Formats: sequence, structure tokens, C-alpha cells
Amino acid sequence: MAKVELKKLWKKYGKVEAVKGIDLSIQDREFVAFLGPSGCGKTSTMRMIAGLEKITGGEIYIGDRLVNELDPGTRNIAMAFESYALYPPMTVFDNIAFPLRAMKYPENEIKSRVQRLAEILELTDIMAKYPKGLSGGHQQRVSLARALVRDADVYLLDEPISHLDTKMRNRMRAELKRIHGELGKTMIYVTHDQVEALAMADKVVVMNFGVIQQVGTPQEIYFKPQNLFVADFVGEPPMNFVDCSIELKEKSFILLFSGHSVEIHDEQKVAKLRELENVLSKKWIFGIRPTNLQIFKDESNNSSSLIPGIIYAVEPLGDSKIVHVLYGDKSLLIETTPDFIGSEDEKIFLKIDSDYLLLFDKETE
Ligand code: ADP
Ligand code: MG
Repeated sequence: MAKVELKKLWKKYGKVEAVKGIDLSIQDREFVAFLGPSGCGKTSTMRMIAGLEKITGGEIYIGDRLVNELDPGTRNIAMAFESYALYPPMTVFDNIAFPLRAMKYPENEIKSRVQRLAEILELTDIMAKYPKGLSGGHQQRVSLARALVRDADVYLLDEPISHLDTKMRNRMRAELKRIHGELGKTMIYVTHDQVEALAMADKVVVMNFGVIQQVGTPQEIYFKPQNLFVADFVGEPPMNFVDCSIELKEKSFILLFSGHSVEIHDEQKVAKLRELENVLSKKWIFGIRPTNLQIFKDESNNSSSLIPGIIYAVEPLGDSKIVHVLYGDKSLLIETTPDFIGSEDEKIFLKIDSDYLLLFDKETE
């Protein structure tokens, strides 16, 4: 049983506030991903959980134990960090076997465990080699194997596949997910790559500037981002954001922006807006993902819901096309199907799929 609990966790390096009072509960057996841009405090958080970095303030519980003052060796955690820290005089096999030998596992069990991980992580060909001559990608997988080979309550993996090429990274993503399922242990995974976080984790923790922005399932993070940062950080191509104001009607509302007005028929959203004060005087930003805008060639049906625009460029990307559309002096991205035909400077109309329309209050952002 290993829950991990962070309470008002702080980390300062001199004047740099790397982690600013984060609260988080990680359940036993959960696969949690910390996601955020470089410098947002992910590694500092991991190193504090591991016991490699002194805590400036707050508490860390692993299981039911307060571990603030416990040495790393007594926390029963396994770690793989972005910098590989392999032992140069040892072969790959011996590097991976090292933690098991330190714990006096029988040699035949060591052999079978190491070999099994070597197969999963595609290392069997290099077991007799030394770290020095290996590529960064190989070294990283050895480091990952060394972390996963042992029994631990919690596995801490900090950007463990960041140095692999795209194809290998995709394979390793799936392998890690399966390994988590087999081990049935708590895993905390750090990445700046949103695809990795969404693909693997049960729960994603989005961080920025040392503060947690949102905690949720991959679906919640993607479809219900709680603020502009999360909405903007997650999703590729990125979400469109447009400054607007809002007018409420009986069963619909109007988005007003750049001289356009677009009527949105969505009674649920209308009801929510009615609960707020000053809807009309507030400045808003609406967000819509490129896949949730539809292109029409004429405005025959329902012109009050359409945004007129002009095609600026079309990018065929194989299984989709990205269309850049100008409206006034602004632009929107639309992700459409490969069979879409459109030419530069062509007039078109865009329809917002209101189910996926997000509204952000500009002042609280
Ligand atoms: P991430 O892993 O998300 O990239 P880090 O936790 O490594 O973020 O860093 C968070 C902030 O703390 C950054 O501003 C970084 O420069 C700073 N920082 C990290 N480690 C140290 C250190 N040992 N000394 C001083 N500042 C540090
Ligand atoms: Mg880091």
C-alpha cells in the first residue's frame, strides 16, 4: 500500500521559488503524470519525494509515514531520472542488476528479472556492453530498467524516455503502461510532453510556475481545462482563443468579437451564464479546438451561427488538413478531413461546435 500525499509542499533555492505550496493526493497503484513546461518545478517535486532534495516547507507522506526527515534509502522508492547516472565500470546487465544485488536477491532471480526487462525495453543486444559507448537513448532505457527491476512501493520516473526517438518513445509509452499494470504499484511520472501524459496516466497534474493548475483524468484535462494555461498547453494543434463579449438571450447567447456576432444555441451554457453576475459587462475569451470548427462553403443554413472568414493557407498533413482562416485581422486554425478542398483567399464560413466551446473570464485568468 503506498499512497503519496503532498501537503503545502514548498521548495526554494535561495530566492527562486520552484514549488509553491502544492497539495496533492496520489492513490495506491495510481499512475500519475506531472505535466508542465520546463522550469515549472516538476523535478524539484520528484526529488523532494525521493528525499534527494531538502523540503523548504510542508509535508510528504508515503503510505502513512511522514517521510520529510527520512533518508532516500528508507523510503522504498525506485527512481529513474533524465540524467542516467549509470555506473561506468559495469556492463549494462550489471547496471540493471545492481539494485537487486544490493538487496541480496538470489542470482537466478536476478538473471530472470533483468532479462525480462531487457526484452521489454529492447536491450538484449547490448547487455554485455559498457555505458560509455552507448547512445543517449540506450543509456536512458538502461536507467529505466534499473529503476523498474526492483520492488518498491513507489516508482518515480522523471522524463524517462525523453531522449528516445519518436518511434521508440511510442513503443516505450505502451510498455510502461503495461509494466504499471503488471507491477500494480504507484507510479509518478514527469514529462513536458502532453501526449505522453495523456496517453499513460490515470491522473494528470498540470503545473506551471511551481503551482498546480489542474488535476484530472486525461479526458478532463483535455475537454474541461480549468484555465487558459491548461487549455493552451494541452492539445495539438493548439486551441483557438478569441477575445469576446457575451449577450444573453432567452435560449441562446451571442458571442461578439471583431465585428462579428455568432449565436450559440446551448441551453446548459445559457443556464450557467445566468448564474453569473455581470456577464454582459465582463470581458471573455472563448476557446475552441481546431477539430471543433467546421467549414462551410455557403451560409444558406443558419447564418447567425456562422463566422465568415477567408482561407489563408491549407496544410495537408496526411490524415488531416490544417486550414488557417482569417477573420478581420485575426486567424483561426481548423483541423479538417484530408478530402477537404479549399484554395487561398477563398471565402468560407465557420461553425462552432458548441458542445466543445469553452468560455474563460478574462479578468480571473
Ligand atoms: P522542471 O523539472 O519542471 O523543469 P525544476 O524543478 O528542475 O523544473 O526547476 C524549477 C525551478 O527551480 C527552475 O527555475 C530552476 O531553474 C530552479 N532550480 C532547480 N534546481 C535548482 C538548484 N539546484 N538550484 C537553484 N535553482 C534550481
Ligand atoms: Mg525536470
